[in-house]
Amino acid sequence: MGFHTITLGCKLNQFDTAAIEAELMRRGLSPAADAGDARVVIVNTCTVTGKADAEARKLIRGVRRRNAGCKLLVTGCYAELDGERIAAIDGVDRVFGNRDKHRLPEILDEVGIAAPEQNTGDLDRGCDALHFGDRSRAFLRVQEGCNLRCSYCVIPKVRGLSRSTPPQQVAEMFGSLLGRGYREVVLTGVNTGDYGKDLDPPRSLADLLRELLEVCPDADAPRRSRIRLNSLEPLTVTDEIIALMAADRRLAPHLQVPLQSGSETILRRMRRNYRLSQYTDRLERLRSAVPHVGLGADVIIGFPGETDELFEECYRFIENSPLNYLHVFAWSPRPGTPAADLEDRVHGSKVKERSARLRELAARLGLRFRRGFEGRPLDAVILGPREDGRIRALTGNFIEVSLPARTEVPRGSMLDVVITEAREEETLAVPADSGQTKAPPADAGEAVELV
Ligand code: SF4
Repeated sequence: MGFHTITLGCKLNQFDTAAIEAELMRRGLSPAADAGDARVVIVNTCTVTGKADAEARKLIRGVRRRNAGCKLLVTGCYAELDGERIAAIDGVDRVFGNRDKHRLPEILDEVGIAAPEQNTGDLDRGCDALHFGDRSRAFLRVQEGCNLRCSYCVIPKVRGLSRSTPPQQVAEMFGSLLGRGYREVVLTGVNTGDYGKDLDPPRSLADLLRELLEVCPDADAPRRSRIRLNSLEPLTVTDEIIALMAADRRLAPHLQVPLQSGSETILRRMRRNYRLSQYTDRLERLRSAVPHVGLGADVIIGFPGETDELFEECYRFIENSPLNYLHVFAWSPRPGTPAADLEDRVHGSKVKERSARLRELAARLGLRFRRGFEGRPLDAVILGPREDGRIRALTGNFIEVSLPARTEVPRGSMLDVVITEAREEETLAVPADSGQTKAPPADAGEAVELV
């Protein structure tokens, strides 16, 4: 009897899905590779854009078309935002939002997916059995919700106020993930940098990191591991966190710091809680303390009122920043957000053109950044093989490299690599102990074997 889960959206949703799967496995179900073969299908949705909503609806209809007999359950942010609309889709058995995810055991009972006798009825209990499919990196939710009110954002409405997972519980889950062989654990949340402010006594994300680093194997240990912080809001990139990242290479030298716009005028309309000078200050401090740090940003294009001049301001700001990659999104009016009532909409063709220009800029910044590491050793976690047989790996500073085929290192393990050539489309590397500084031609796959 199998189950199949489909996850849309962010790493927090990936974590939630892993917890859902843990509960289904606790009930004796096993993963089915295809939704068409599953007895239970759970779709964990996202609602960050209108496009995400449409994608979820299409996907849900697709599952029902391919599997008339399964129990079809839908959860996640879109279910929280507009559960009625999803429930109206033919063939949906049950819709439950984020605030009801913890009741999954009860909900499964109600839809007839029985539980073994000693059912505890609390989803979080299953977290010591978290698996991330064939992923080599694990996601660990430490914080949930957000207290900020950016004018375009629907997340506080669907994820609630900011709240932190107790440090003891985080440390247990972290230890259990390391114990099960994950070499990289990505700490995730909605506004992760807000960690601990709601706890009694209040704590900080830096406090939590110090605790986790205590249970993390030494940087030179055979089974070394690392913590990745993923995304932090600009004003939560504290000097403490910068100092920790500079002092301890088990904390991946990488941060995604949402910018959203490089125009002060647009930032004000977005009701973001920082000025560009503060944003620059945080990134420059980080870059000077951790020179090889990988820095990325989310940017929204086409926000109401974004004129050509304001877009050029944004473009120049990013061009002169230490950023080396971008996630570019087109603004999307979200129901119930102040921005949805704003006029001065930007025409779709302008949005397309500007997004393309920013992506081209990001590619240039990224290539310059990667070229700066040619010939230098970096530690990387093995992600797995590509279709062409080369091996994908991810460095601490968030460069995806490809190693020669037949590089015999298990998925998920960590090794030192040397970047030999940064190309526009990819970054070639070899294992640091291969004695090679220049990558063999891409098709010479047989050359390298790691003992
Ligand atoms: S910080 Fe702003 S954009 Fe991010 S989740 Fe909170 S309200 Fe949304």
